[in-house]
Amino acid sequence: MNNNIRTLVLNSTFRPLSVVNPKRCISLLMRDKVTSLVDSSIKFHSEKDSFAIPKVVVLKYYVKAPYARRIALNKDNIFIRDNYICQYCSSSAESIDHIVPKSRGGEHEWKNIVACCKTCNLKKADKLLHETHLTLLKNPRLPSDNFWIKAILSSSPDPAWKKYLMTA
Ligand SMILES: [Zn+2]
Repeated sequence: MNNNIRTLVLNSTFRPLSVVNPKRCISLLMRDKVTSLVDSSIKFHSEKDSFAIPKVVVLKYYVKAPYARRIALNKDNIFIRDNYICQYCSSSAESIDHIVPKSRGGEHEWKNIVACCKTCNLKKADKLLHETHLTLLKNPRLPSDNFWIKAILSSSPDPAWKKYLMTA
């Protein structure tokens, strides 16, 4: 099976939900949970029949899920949330910063972490914000509902996904 192919999964409202690998996609198809909207040219052969692995599927039922809780808190995802921009000076982000440093009791959580550049990270060091001349562009928040769309768009999406990502 070709593992390079990935499938965009849309909610029943056509809002993008996630991207899955072929194994997960086939499992959704076999359990009749999704309908294919765009097929790839790659075939999956089961014992009984063969069918194309979809590039885009839509769920047959509506999923309501607290997505923010499922998004791993890591550097890549902080970068996606913050659009790869240093939240102190707007230049390209190169690292992440704990606003209240861990050494000063700051938590490792979405609202205390921002993407930042190396220069700002050095200036900030283990100081509190008011002890520096830095200010935040905006207060960091939990990832929004469209986090997955941002994540998908930043990961070289399949051209076949484009029109479904735009409707979001
Ligand atoms: Zn900066």
